[in-house]
Amino acid sequence: MDKKRVYTFGNGQAEGRADMKNLLGGKGANLAEMNLIGVPVPPGFTITTEVCTEYYELGHNKVVALLKKEVEQAIAHIETLMRSKFGDVENPLLVSVRSGARASMPGMMDTILNLGLNDEVVEGLTRKTGNARFAWDSYRRFVQMYGDVVLGMKPSNKEEIDPFEEIIEEVKHAKGVKLDNELKVEDLKELVAKFKAAVKERTGKDFPASAFEQLWGAVCAVFNSWMNERAILYRKMEGIPDEWGTAVTVQAMVFGNMGETSATGVCFSRDAGTGEDLFNGEYLINAQGEDVVAGIRTPQQITLIGSQRWAALAGVSEETRSKCYPSMEEAMPEIYAELDRLQTKLENHYRDMQDMEFTVQEGKLWFLQTRNGKRTGAAMVKIAMDLLHQGMIDEKTAILRVEPNKLDELLHPVFDKIALSQATVLTRGLPASPGAATGQIVFFADDAAEWHAAGKKVVMVRLETSPEDLAGMQVAQGILTARGGMTSHAAVVARGMGKCCVSGAGALNIDYKARTVEIDGTVLKEGDFISINGSTGEVYQGKVETRAAELSGDFSELMKLADKYTKLQVRTNADTPHDAAVARNFGAVGIGLCRTEHMFFEGEKIKAMREMILAVDAEGRRKALAKILPYQQDDFKGIFKAMQGYPVTVRLLDPPLHEFVPHDLKGQEEMAEAMGVTLAYIQQRVESLCEHNPMLGHRGCRLGNTYPEITQMQTRAILGAALELKKEGITTIPEIMVPLTGIVYEFNEQEKVIRSEAEALFAEKGTRIEFKVGTMIEIPRAALTANKIAASAEFFSFGTNDLTQMTFGYSRDDIASFLPVYLEKKILKVDPFQVLDQNGVGQLVRMATEKGRSVRPDLKCGICGEHGGEPSSVKFCHKVGLNYVSCSPFRVPIARLAAAQAAIEE
Ligand code: PEP
Ligand code: MG
Repeated sequence: MDKKRVYTFGNGQAEGRADMKNLLGGKGANLAEMNLIGVPVPPGFTITTEVCTEYYELGHNKVVALLKKEVEQAIAHIETLMRSKFGDVENPLLVSVRSGARASMPGMMDTILNLGLNDEVVEGLTRKTGNARFAWDSYRRFVQMYGDVVLGMKPSNKEEIDPFEEIIEEVKHAKGVKLDNELKVEDLKELVAKFKAAVKERTGKDFPASAFEQLWGAVCAVFNSWMNERAILYRKMEGIPDEWGTAVTVQAMVFGNMGETSATGVCFSRDAGTGEDLFNGEYLINAQGEDVVAGIRTPQQITLIGSQRWAALAGVSEETRSKCYPSMEEAMPEIYAELDRLQTKLENHYRDMQDMEFTVQEGKLWFLQTRNGKRTGAAMVKIAMDLLHQGMIDEKTAILRVEPNKLDELLHPVFDKIALSQATVLTRGLPASPGAATGQIVFFADDAAEWHAAGKKVVMVRLETSPEDLAGMQVAQGILTARGGMTSHAAVVARGMGKCCVSGAGALNIDYKARTVEIDGTVLKEGDFISINGSTGEVYQGKVETRAAELSGDFSELMKLADKYTKLQVRTNADTPHDAAVARNFGAVGIGLCRTEHMFFEGEKIKAMREMILAVDAEGRRKALAKILPYQQDDFKGIFKAMQGYPVTVRLLDPPLHEFVPHDLKGQEEMAEAMGVTLAYIQQRVESLCEHNPMLGHRGCRLGNTYPEITQMQTRAILGAALELKKEGITTIPEIMVPLTGIVYEFNEQEKVIRSEAEALFAEKGTRIEFKVGTMIEIPRAALTANKIAASAEFFSFGTNDLTQMTFGYSRDDIASFLPVYLEKKILKVDPFQVLDQNGVGQLVRMATEKGRSVRPDLKCGICGEHGGEPSSVKFCHKVGLNYVSCSPFRVPIARLAAAQAAIEE
């Protein structure tokens, strides 16, 4: 027997099933499944994806011949069930023809609706429905769609105008109307005539009147659309093979606009916003699907409780509500009961919240579609945990149901939805640190502090931020910068603080002197309100109300569940006791990176630090460092205390020195006086510290190797703090980390300094403490020679910010200038500073881990670049066998969930 090419469905029976997606496409398989479980869907049939392949081998005529008998039988099957006839004038059957691949390719391929209409059938449809406008509007839409899709009249480029749209505009202009729905029946008839004339003129043929001729044209057009440009591009992007092909589903049309016993709507089995287990949705009597979404009529609520809630919000009285906007539960109680029963059935079947479309045609309910519903982060967590408690899914499934990144929404403030819909977008930058912030513009850190002290809410607007801005950033609601990428100073620090930040908004023209910022022609002054969304990168004019995030019991239960399955540990990047405590609260089991440079920027510390840098000789530096030592020791004590019993990796000083010195006259004069040297000396020192490429300059262990006194002081502060806590009975696990090692000798030199200073300290104090010395791997050379380095280093921590910078050769701080173009042109799929480049940078991580463990099998390896909190990168770290990931405090829950998912998916 010849193979089966057509699978029918309808009236509770189907030849296909849900697990036949490869053959029937997602849509075809799902429609079959709905039939099998007793959900009424308009009858139809699916032509398999294999026929698509045959179509490309054999061509139109041969494939039509192969399909003819099966398709004619399948149409007869629909006719029987719908009690109407394809092409019949008095009782016509109209069908839709849709594509459906095994993987969803939204909007990439073509669809034709209302197929089966011609000049006679449209009159029959008018008589049958008593609605000439509906019949003629359906007909003109059909001719237009068919002309565009099947007869190739759709313009191939943006400059050309759709010939049908041109005719519509002409007719509207002649009739003096603005909107399509203002056209009268006579106008629609005129449109159809003109459309058909245009078809004749363009193609040299009459518009096909035969229903079957229309059908074959449409089926082949859907096959053709598998190879249209955007579908090919989409498949390339998503890695979908061309050989899969698309199925074609032909289905009876049903109409919700055939009078007062007809309706159409959309519904959800649970609340997609809050996750509440409450059936809800909207419908309209005597309407078409698009009327519900088009906003021309106010859709009504499906359930009574939903309707009452809506009325309360809209300020509509109960009397008006029940008279003018009754719920479906009240207006169509029997249909409602069936709808409710079936939505429960669908949710139970798919074991997830369903988003469904339905139509009621003359008192009969039809489901057109069901799919797993999109939802907010809060709803995602609640629904997963509710389904678990209700016994619908198991623990592993519950964990896999939550997208880790969606947890972000739960941890940061968000904009009020209504306020946001009325706000004006000024421009867009990079979504550097999530959350929503609204406040008055300030340009300088000290103003931020002053205004904050006066009880004002501020947003700091800067070209870029430097460590000097820390105090201002701390009190600001959010930070907006014109320059800098996702690992720029502003972005990294803001994420650490859990503070909203938009970086690299190139349209910002900041005039620090005038204290104004101009954005595409809009000038805002200091004190004007501005709002930023760190999750999307959008910048809004004025004040947009925000709502605080609330952590639910479901959230902590989900986190506990995740820990049950996780292998990878999650640490945090934190440089203050406060951040460390926040991260502990979110479940971090240690600090993977404590950036000590941030500790030098407050009050007296910065002065001593500047003195150290500007000093003439080592003696001068030692004197200044002695002033810093007690501050540093105190900082470390606080952090060790917050992380009691958990390991704390402290990194030695890393950034280029010029970041610390004063660049303004006032600051330089202050230092000259404090140090008893001339202003000219200070200025010359500052000048000499400037580098052409500071990211590749005098930073990292190059500092410790040229100024070993810094390493000595920091070692003393770290271990001194640990010894003091030991006296108090507090356990500490210090790990001292050397930054930016490229050659093993750089590390060896530093290790010598650290160990000998430690021994000196232990001898002085008469007591000792265990500690480890390891290194960051953030220079490609270090990864390539990891076996040499691991012979000395006791642990590795991958600094994937620098490793990405040096592997790609992209400056971390300047990527914003070309990244948007690269993303748009698809040269880059994602920002490699956000999502670890597994094929390039990831290979260095894998190789270094393997090489390192080849000489030191128990080498502890972690990652502390910004990728440590990004789900796909966390999963990669799990696969490579790292011991831990370390990320900013507010990303800890995301990393914990991603780590659990990686273990479950394995
Ligand atoms: C890194 O380079 O990945 C890193 C964590 O260090 P920093 O961002 O401080 O350079
Ligand atoms: Mg680094």
